[in-house]
Amino acid sequence: MAVIGIDIGGTKIRMAISDTPTNFLCQSEARISDLGIPISVDVLSNFIREKIKKENIPFSKIQAIGVSVAAVVNRQQGFVKIGENVGWENVPLAKQLEEEFGIPIIVDTDVFCGAAAESTLGNGIDLDNFLYIAIGTGIGHAFVLNREIFRGLHDAASAFGHLKVCIGGAKCYCGQRGCVCQYSSGEGISRLSNEFFKKKVSMKEIVHAYLCGEEWAKQVIKEASDKLALAISQAYTLFDIECVILGGGALSDIYPNLDYLAELLEQMVYPKVRPIILRKGKYGGNSQLVGATLFALDAIS
Ligand SMILES: [Zn+2]
Repeated sequence: MAVIGIDIGGTKIRMAISDTPTNFLCQSEARISDLGIPISVDVLSNFIREKIKKENIPFSKIQAIGVSVAAVVNRQQGFVKIGENVGWENVPLAKQLEEEFGIPIIVDTDVFCGAAAESTLGNGIDLDNFLYIAIGTGIGHAFVLNREIFRGLHDAASAFGHLKVCIGGAKCYCGQRGCVCQYSSGEGISRLSNEFFKKKVSMKEIVHAYLCGEEWAKQVIKEASDKLALAISQAYTLFDIECVILGGGALSDIYPNLDYLAELLEQMVYPKVRPIILRKGKYGGNSQLVGATLFALDAIS
């Protein structure tokens, strides 16, 4: 028995075949831009079939597929309402993949998958109420309240990256200005480097320069941290939660240690809701893949 977990993120699509949520028998990935945007369901299906074939796993052994996608999703219907990165709008993804593969398909928002992984198996296992924040190409969040993921009225309670940290700040792809993702995500620090230092550099190049002690990179990372702390502090004060768990593929690159963020939060969070506890997620950049796999296994148990 095995299931497939798929994580469709900001820049990459990753897939794992597993027999438990964390025992990936094999993994593969592709760049989303190589698959074409919007990704057609046919292209996605072919990607899945090719990877299964390559691993010599008979399809009859695959019992369910869990899909994590950076999008607003109606989970019950497996319906993607809007996913800007993949160019999807109103796509009945679960239905289309079910028709293709004939097995249960579960589709959910990437950060909800990540939060479920941390809550069920990871560093949130001992917590009833926490905020999960994933930092990657963009920034997303999920509140776990009374051990349940809080989805919100429109299934869209995941848009931490669009909290405002600056009035009249940088223009965001959401159409507004001053969103924290424009300062504190992987793309955000590239944008900052370009705006303030006229450097067209990738996140990896900035992190390398930071580790080499270059002043401009230190300033970029400081600005990213300041803005991220400002956004986290509002959430902490509003919800009086037990902990913030930070994860996502870019976390360890941009924020290798959380001490500076914790120091800022001590100054910003309403005193009555302290102490402030920040943890790194157990699964880092894999949390969404683990969550998608977990949902697939749940569907057949
Ligand atoms: Zn925005």
